[in-house]
Amino acid sequence: MAPSKLHILDNGAMHCDITWLLLKPGRNIRPRQEKDHPIEWYDASTYTVLVETPEGRLLWDTSCPRDWEQRWEPTGLQDFFPYDNVSEEQYLDSRLKQLGVELGSIDYAVLSHLHFDHAGNVNMLAGQGPRMICHEKEKEFAFGFDGLFTGAHLKTDYENVEFETVSGDYEILPGITLLETPGHTPGQMSMKVDLPESGSMIFTSDAVYMGDSYGPPAVAAAIVNDMAAFYASVEKVRSVAEKSNATVVFGHDSQQMQGLRKAPESSYT
Ligand SMILES: [Zn+2]
Repeated sequence: MAPSKLHILDNGAMHCDITWLLLKPGRNIRPRQEKDHPIEWYDASTYTVLVETPEGRLLWDTSCPRDWEQRWEPTGLQDFFPYDNVSEEQYLDSRLKQLGVELGSIDYAVLSHLHFDHAGNVNMLAGQGPRMICHEKEKEFAFGFDGLFTGAHLKTDYENVEFETVSGDYEILPGITLLETPGHTPGQMSMKVDLPESGSMIFTSDAVYMGDSYGPPAVAAAIVNDMAAFYASVEKVRSVAEKSNATVVFGHDSQQMQGLRKAPESSYT
């Protein structure tokens, strides 16, 4: 049976220098004529997705934690990506309450990747009912380095969690397919959901940060583990989207977020 309902949970936004997300001459990398213009400080939206299917309920990503400022402090990145554009009702736990969703009623929590702005609430969910899922290469990388953090992988977020892993393009529930889209991180995934009325939707997470990254041509970002894989993944998303006539929802595009149907007021069916 196809998924019956899809909720997009708007979890507010981080702020950051847009150069992290977009290395685009003329858009944010300045020519000499504009060398005195201030750098754009971007409102990087963060969201999670809850999909209801007759076979189970799936949460995609977990956004940022309430205690981001303390938790991220060892990485130094709390000053580069402050999660400071968020209201009480936008935190993930608040959004789930607004939908009347108990943690124990979630069957799967799928992590697109384990960066701290996607895996920030993994500890809230683990052990409460959901099976915790990530790509096998993401787990290998996230548990495989020495020390507490590397880049935005912060072990405090996930080190006590037992992840089940997937690989290949994998249909986890009828109508919900996890797509391998590595590059941003080794095990970065996107999610395709096929809805009966709204049609297909692809949630790219950080495989594609924003509309400006998608192009064509695709535009690189500063935080990319493997640039060749990154470009190949953007083209994979484009090809799957064209074949399925899908709506592509980017990872951190605040402008796009404004136009989406958002929970709890509205949903996709
Ligand atoms: Zn990321």
